Formats: sequence, structure tokens, C-alpha cells
Amino acid sequence: MSEELKKKLFYTAPHAAQKMTAAEIETADTFCEGYKDFLDAAKTEREAVKKAVELAELNGFRPYVEGSRYRAGSKIYYNNRGKAIILAVVGELGLSDGARIVAAHIDSPRLDLRPNPLYETDGEALFKTHYYGGIKKYQWTAIPLSLHGVIVKADGESVTVNIGEAEDDPKFVISDLLPHLAAEQMKKTMAEGVAGEDLNVIVGSRPFDTTDEAQNVKLNILNILFEKYGITEADFLSAELEIVPAFKACDIGFDRSLIGAYGHDDRVCAYPALMALLDTELPNNTTFCVLTDKEEIGSEGNTGLNSSYMAYFIKALARAEGLEGETVLSKSKCLSADVNAAYDPNFAGVFEKNNSSYLNKGVVITKYTGSRGKGGSSDASAEFMGEVRSLLDGANVCWQIGELGRLDAGGGGTVAKYVASLNIDVVDVGVPVLSMHAPFEVVSKLDVYACYRAAYEFYNA
Ligand code: MN
Ligand code: MN
Repeated sequence: MSEELKKKLFYTAPHAAQKMTAAEIETADTFCEGYKDFLDAAKTEREAVKKAVELAELNGFRPYVEGSRYRAGSKIYYNNRGKAIILAVVGELGLSDGARIVAAHIDSPRLDLRPNPLYETDGEALFKTHYYGGIKKYQWTAIPLSLHGVIVKADGESVTVNIGEAEDDPKFVISDLLPHLAAEQMKKTMAEGVAGEDLNVIVGSRPFDTTDEAQNVKLNILNILFEKYGITEADFLSAELEIVPAFKACDIGFDRSLIGAYGHDDRVCAYPALMALLDTELPNNTTFCVLTDKEEIGSEGNTGLNSSYMAYFIKALARAEGLEGETVLSKSKCLSADVNAAYDPNFAGVFEKNNSSYLNKGVVITKYTGSRGKGGSSDASAEFMGEVRSLLDGANVCWQIGELGRLDAGGGGTVAKYVASLNIDVVDVGVPVLSMHAPFEVVSKLDVYACYRAAYEFYNA
């Protein structure tokens, strides 16, 4: 009797495998093969935009033409400086009843090269880096690294760089101290053990020739770069070069249930959001997939969502339909698709079990983020939570609720508050991640697929 009543009155999110059929689980695993390819091909925001354009073009999307009025079913994209992109499928109602937006970010924590990166010391050539986003610095030593980005030469020519990803490419590395001599280092806190100024990347060690000239190793590296890219040292001044882990995405576990990779945060939401839009043919409302930059440093800059580029684009489409942009934005709804911290039994102390997200329970809805009493959070309304909840339940999408850790253990934020500032209803919906912001993060395949399904149902509601 009480068992029956418990079933009726209690709530716990089940393991996704208990809700899904064998065929659905197979579909999820297949979906994740595409995701792993995307992870390897798109380790930076520029590469993610390039890949998104490629996939979109294959699916009939065309670049947005300023001032155009688009018919229902039109598929367009707006490429913001090669570092952020908005894709849209025009709905049957156009924008008259607002837009439906899924916004994810495509930048990840990494090490950027400084404007004057290259130097030689004690027989080694090294790059100075400036870390980007929230990293634990010690995690970036003694792992294989690759170099990605663009160099704009004095004559304006742009050179694309990608070294360390192909099988026979050289890789790079930051050295760490052997334990035998680390007595002092090991007494330091983890924040101080490896300092920002210690994150210097080894890029070479052989001199240009046999003379005893100073800086011959640096000269050799510059000579190699000149021969390969036609650049000189001054060209680093106008470059965006990013050091990221050289690992490939791979399955984790005997059962292959998980994926380990660099940059799940937030490609694990960006890829499902993108694929769901590519599979959307004729929605009711015009739908947008926003893949944005700079979230990891506070959504700043003109490619981050604290800029007006998304609002300007929606307003331009509204104008072409004869609608007021502000009215359209005020009627719009958004899933801020970003990751949450998966409960980690290794670090149980920083989580609150009843309100944490877990691997394999599906996509996590995060009502609010922030720190010290929801500071800096958007905090979705009960009404919008109810709407998203019934949408996902109605489509049998696996989902769970989650907060980011114990109270006052720390905190974080997403793009949600910048979307909310446009008077749009918004809530965070994303995938739980283990080891978030580490060079190698872990997610569950069933959660990745749940994120795709959530985005699809939201676009097509
Ligand atoms: Mn994120
Ligand atoms: Mn992040």
C-alpha cells in the first residue's frame, strides 16, 4: 500500500537507460559517434563555426542577406566574425509570436599565446601563454598539446594554424617538476604549485646552425615558421593562437557509456543544439541556434552574448516582417544550453545529493546558477520551468534537475543572464560533466542524446 503511494507521490529522476528502449539507446550511441568527430574537428570557437557552416550548408542553410524577408521554411545563418554563429529556420508564424532560441557556447578554457610569445632560454625555445577561462593550472603540464588559430600578416593575409592534431604532427608540452626534486613545490597549495607564468610551452630545442650565436634555437623555430607560413616574429602581434590538449575524443568504460574529451563544455550542448536545428524543417515559431564565443571569460567582446549581435540579428529579421524587434524579443523563449557539474563520488563533499545532476539521468535543467545567494543568476520563473518540464515530459525526454554544488562551495554563471536582459524567458538546460574545465572532461552518451532531443522538442514546440 505505501509502496503504491510512494510511486504516486515521490519524485526521483531514473537512469536514462531505464526510460529508453534498446533502439533509442542504439540511436544515442550512433549520435555520439558524430559528436566525437565534431569534438576532434572543432577544438576552438573558430573551428566550431567553420564546422557548423559546413554542416549547415550541406543541410540547405545559406548566409543571411541583409534586409531580406524570408519565407517559412527558409534556412539561414549569420556568421559573426568567424567566432560565433546564429543559424535560423523560419517558422510558419515567422516572428509574430516571438522566437525560440537555443544558445550554447563554443569557446573552452585553454592557453592563449601572448602577443610576444616566443623566447629562448637555456637551450629551449618556448611560448609564453596567457590562460583563458577558469583552469586548474597544474592540470596543463605534462600532457600533449596542439596549437590552433589564425595569424594576420602585415599585408592583411590571414594564415590558419592547426598543428598537433594529425597523427604524425609534432605536439607541444609544458614540463612539470620531477617528484624527486619537488619537495618545496609539493608543500604549496594546488593554486600555487604551478603558476600562470610557469605555463610556458616547449616548441623546440635544436639550434639553427653550429655557430655559438645567441638565440640560435629561437632562430631555428622562426625559420621553420617562415618557411611553413611565411611569417616573421612581428606577425605574432596580430594573431589569435590557442594551445589546447592534443587528445582525441574517446569512449570511456568497459561498457563505452561515457565520452572523454577536451572541450565538452560547451560543445556537448552546442553540437546537439546544432544537429537538432539541422533536423528542423518547418517549426511554428522561427527558431535560432546560437553558438557563441567568450562565455568562459564572462561573455564579453563583440562575439560574446553580452554584446548585441543576437538581438540585432533578430531585430533585423523582425523589421523585414514589419514587426517591432523589442516586441518580438519580449515574446521569445530560450534554452541556455550549458553544462552543469555532474555529481562526483570522488568529491562528494562539494555536492548536495538531493539537488545535484548525475551522469546518465538525462539533460539537466538548472533553474539558477550564481554564487553567495544566487548572485549573478537569472533564476527562471516557475511558469517557464513548468512549460519546459511539460514539454520534455510530453516528448519522453530524459531530464533531471540540478544546482551547481553545495551552497557556498563556489559557483558559476552562463549566458542565461545576458539573454534574460533582453526580456526573454530563459532557463539553463544542458549536459552534466565530470572534471569540468579539465583538459579531459567526461560526459554520458545518453545525456548527450537527451540534449539533442530537448533542443529538437523546444525548436519544434
Ligand atoms: Mn559552459
Ligand atoms: Mn565553462
